[in-house]
Amino acid sequence: MTHEHHDVIVLGGGPAGIAAAAAAAKNGIDTLLVEAGPMPGGELLSGMSIDGLLNARGQYVVGGISDELFAECREMGGFLGPLCDYRLICYVCCDPEIMKIAVSRLLRRYGSRSLLHTLATDVVTDGSRVTGLVVANKGGRMLLGADYFLDCSGDGDLAVMAGAPYEAGGSSGELQPVSMAFRMVDVQTEALLRFVVDYPENVALGESEYIRGGRTNGELAVELARQGQPCVFFKGNGPLLAQAIRDGEMFPTALVMIQPTSAARREVCVNATRVASTVPGTDVARLSEALPELLEQVWTAASFLRRQVPGFDSSTLSGTAPRVGIRETRRIMGEHVLTGEEAVAAAKHSEVVAKGAQHVDIHQAGTGQVRIPIADGGSYDIPWGCLVPKALPNVMVAGRCLSATREGMATARTMGPCLAMGQAVGTAAALCVRAGLRDVRGLAVAVLQQKLREQGAVLDGVR
Ligand SMILES: Cc1cc2nc3c(=O)[nH]c(=O)nc-3n(C[C@H](O)[C@H](O)[C@H](O)COP(=O)(O)OP(=O)(O)OC[C@H]3O[C@@H](n4cnc5c(N)ncnc54)[C@H](O)[C@@H]3O)c2cc1C
Repeated sequence: MTHEHHDVIVLGGGPAGIAAAAAAAKNGIDTLLVEAGPMPGGELLSGMSIDGLLNARGQYVVGGISDELFAECREMGGFLGPLCDYRLICYVCCDPEIMKIAVSRLLRRYGSRSLLHTLATDVVTDGSRVTGLVVANKGGRMLLGADYFLDCSGDGDLAVMAGAPYEAGGSSGELQPVSMAFRMVDVQTEALLRFVVDYPENVALGESEYIRGGRTNGELAVELARQGQPCVFFKGNGPLLAQAIRDGEMFPTALVMIQPTSAARREVCVNATRVASTVPGTDVARLSEALPELLEQVWTAASFLRRQVPGFDSSTLSGTAPRVGIRETRRIMGEHVLTGEEAVAAAKHSEVVAKGAQHVDIHQAGTGQVRIPIADGGSYDIPWGCLVPKALPNVMVAGRCLSATREGMATARTMGPCLAMGQAVGTAAALCVRAGLRDVRGLAVAVLQQKLREQGAVLDGVR
């Protein structure tokens, strides 16, 4: 086995991992990002909106590395700005093709190296300390040593291999469904929004009291149309979709959610497909079996939109997400466990290192979906302890494998908080390495918070 050593190794190149790698390298340490796929970015490349970045009032609750990423997108004309769905949340939409370049530029700017096409398969430990990550790729096996390891694998692979305690799924083992987002070009936004104004009963609107603000669905539909962007959430129990499901024209689903990706291509991303909640994202055989079904659902949903929804008549399928999308696997148990109650109550915490603002969002089999808004259109704090796994001195986690209950994870899993958590652990690793600390618990949270604030993170206020 070849052997190399770095200050920090980041496992996983999704939103959490790229932010972690950029933040660590920005703060002056030698950083290697290890990613199983061919390109860093993860779900940022699927075209879905980036949620949990803004609260329902339209205030940013995440900043810093995410600002740098969006500045790159904006500079290349791939930033569609913060938008409101007039249902529950505000979000940011970007062109996923531009996002590929933006992610690459962000990592290069600070000299973070990437090792792609490389799967982590094991860890080497010295007591509770992780000293190496065993990886495999076409070149064979390698042992990657580091002072600190940041598990941004979504599934908590590294932390679990190192012996961290974890939980997964609901009380009877149920998991959120796996899905495949897809994109369609040549969508006529005006016709689509006119349809929404004429038939608002098909669309999810005003599900949070804050967004509703005493308005009727008809009034909210008019506001949505005035925004001028294809941000439309057709609900599974609305007449249009319910009838199509009854007729077998559509598979059972809670949503056909449409969001813009490119004005130039008149392109939208569609989130509608699902294969039920017994497919564990860590079971690659089951995931492989789910792919053909998901691709058939992509075709079914695209055909439904073309036939039934004004504005889609001349549209064409233009792409699918880079891989099967996994919403839920393991949650690593850490020093603090974020709960759904804390999130929904917009709870604040003295050890905040990141924030979230998305509703608790639990997709279920068929037409089921739980959606619980954050109080008063606000945000909640993600405390430092959610990123520090129990009993491991030099491993941190960020992203959807954070320490949380199922409900807590169901909000913090969105890409905005994942970017913020990644920035927090990358910055923490840099501070630890530079101070010569061997256990992350030796790092004063106030020192980390100060550095995060200096570098644009949002830790205060925003209700
Ligand atoms: C269908 C779907 C729709 C969604 N809709 C939205 C939405 O509209 N807005 C929103 O904000 N969020 C949405 N989410 C949630 C969000 O996309 C994810 O929760 C988020 O991307 C998680 O980020 P992450 O960085 O923690 O992990 P991931 O994005 O899962 O990234 C983990 C990375 O680690 C790599 N990896 C994993 N294990 C290993 C290993 N052993 N070795 C090497 N590499 C490894 C993977 O290849 C992957 O690139 C959606 C998710 C799905 C699946």
